[in-house]
Amino acid sequence: IPHPIPVPSVEAIDFPALPLMPEAGGRPSGDLARLNLNEAPMSPSPLALAAAQEALADSHRYPDHHAGALAGTIAARTGITADRIVFGNGSGELLVQCAQVALDRGDEAVMPDPTFPTCGKGVQMTGAHIVKVPLRPDGANDVAAMLSAITPRTRLLYLCTPNNPTGNLLGEAELERAIREVPATCLLVIDEAYFEFAGGGGEPDTLTLLRSRTGPWVVTRTFSKAYCMAGLRVGYALCSDEGLKRGFSRIRHNFNVSRPSLAAARAAFEDEAYMRAAVAETVARREQLRAGLERLGFAVLPSFANFLTVRFNGSAAALAQALHGQGIAVQALGWPDANGSLRITIGAAEENERVLAAIENQLEAA
Ligand code: PMP
Repeated sequence: IPHPIPVPSVEAIDFPALPLMPEAGGRPSGDLARLNLNEAPMSPSPLALAAAQEALADSHRYPDHHAGALAGTIAARTGITADRIVFGNGSGELLVQCAQVALDRGDEAVMPDPTFPTCGKGVQMTGAHIVKVPLRPDGANDVAAMLSAITPRTRLLYLCTPNNPTGNLLGEAELERAIREVPATCLLVIDEAYFEFAGGGGEPDTLTLLRSRTGPWVVTRTFSKAYCMAGLRVGYALCSDEGLKRGFSRIRHNFNVSRPSLAAARAAFEDEAYMRAAVAETVARREQLRAGLERLGFAVLPSFANFLTVRFNGSAAALAQALHGQGIAVQALGWPDANGSLRITIGAAEENERVLAAIENQLEAA
């Protein structure tokens, strides 16, 4: 019997196969090194855990639908007022909502390729078309090419900086150009899931640059990466104006972020020192892993995130398969050519040593 409700055909999302996503968490990650999902290897801030625990006791009550306390905390640091901040069950939920807010059937959305697929999933759900624009060879979004892909039907342009799965960042001039030249009839979405890892090197300050934009914009950020809270599912969207937030409110489910998650996120955001230490440790390990992989002859892309994307003279998919056989999950990418590349999350120190040793063994065996 045909299903009475038409189900949009959404392309398969580039998620790792199920055996690479074991449900049992465990600290540390047990026998399987989970270096495929860009999770943090460390636990959330102890203050966040305590806040979640305390909130659990009030679990008979719905959470604050407006997330007022968390919004106030984020407003104080970002300068974006609470009436322009929206929360999601992870920033992934908000990326789908960006498409739902901006697009109708037949519209177009310009996106880099490859990139994080969730905004694209939202685009497909609305019946709009994705216009894919290849990344630059260094793994950053190609702003000039994306601007050239805009047509009168374009209603959304998605930038991901640092880009997943490649790790590179947009420079200030390019970001400024996108902010200026994306038409006001088009929602500019800037996904900054790895924003906290990109700081410290004179990187562009997106929110300051956005002050000059006349059209609508959204910047999405998350507690899943630098705040080590992927399992609690909290993301937020900073919006150009209150009207845009009202657009999100129309489609958002009631109480979409749980009470313990909201409490944990607020405590984690306030414990900035813990987040900074987690980021510093991750960046230090990333650079150690980079040096090790370069010694093995890998080409390592510039990374401003908690992962490295690497290429070598051989099949990345075959290497990922071999590593999986040794209990190490990494993500193989079909980019930029037939050999592809590997995306390796920065794990705990021993996981990084393990992945390096396993790769070295594989290269010797090949
Ligand atoms: N954007 C990017 C670029 C990501 O890499 C991810 C997660 N890997 C997300 C958004 C979504 O993260 P979350 O839903 O956990 O906030």
